[in-house]
Amino acid sequence: MMRSLLLLSALLFSLTAHAEGFLTRLLNHPVPGGVAVLNLGDGSPPPQASFNSKPVMVVKEEGTRWIAVVGIDLKTLPGEQTLRVNDGRTLSFTVQPKRYREQHIKLANKRQVNPLAQDLERINRELAEQNKAYATFTPGTPSNLLLDRPVSGPLSSPFGLRRFFNGEERNPHSGLDFAARLGTPIKAPAAGTVILVGDYFFNGRTVFIDHGQGFISMFCHLSAVDVKVGDTLTRGAVLGKVGMTGRATGPHMHWNVSLNGSRVDPAIFIGAFTL
Ligand SMILES: [Zn+2]
Repeated sequence: MMRSLLLLSALLFSLTAHAEGFLTRLLNHPVPGGVAVLNLGDGSPPPQASFNSKPVMVVKEEGTRWIAVVGIDLKTLPGEQTLRVNDGRTLSFTVQPKRYREQHIKLANKRQVNPLAQDLERINRELAEQNKAYATFTPGTPSNLLLDRPVSGPLSSPFGLRRFFNGEERNPHSGLDFAARLGTPIKAPAAGTVILVGDYFFNGRTVFIDHGQGFISMFCHLSAVDVKVGDTLTRGAVLGKVGMTGRATGPHMHWNVSLNGSRVDPAIFIGAFTL
């Protein structure tokens, strides 16, 4: 009893003595497909930061210091990386390794595994359109960084799975899937502006929301889209319904989260990250 009390008080002390704030503890998972949170100090005006020449989100933590919230692309190798700050500073951080599991999926539609030449033209055009949306960087602090779950329902396929369709390796899983019934309403996990709506070869019916400062959500395989480009959504506003359009084997909700143009694990932002 005494020993466990001592352990508990030591734990509480280490938590309270730690300089890190809530956002840093929640979001700092510097792995490929993860997020690095770096302390930029206090002062005004807010510093601006960039990573791999792309602007990075900077927000205030607990009213005291500025933090940079850096998205780390899944293709990044473990090792040292550098954030640049506009006052001339460079801050380095270490990307730790993470092993992602494999997933094998059987598709009856072989064209979704090996697209025809005409499909490739469409796929490349759609990819460019979506990458442009991911590169959006608008000023303004997101309404919330701890995001709401867009649908209620259990998590299914995690982010980062190495994917094999009919035995052939394709791009890894860029988002997080939720098991949900056809027609379940999808709600904005934070306030934002609709910046792209499309009906794509792989993603099916798709909605992109800009939450501010390069923090972008994408929802795909929808059965219905209830918003249009330019709409401003409040946190929790319904944007569409769960479906299985595009390359999907059944109804589910696929959610991408992007920071500084890199897709990162949405589980981080709902407190469900696991190594
Ligand atoms: Zn998915």
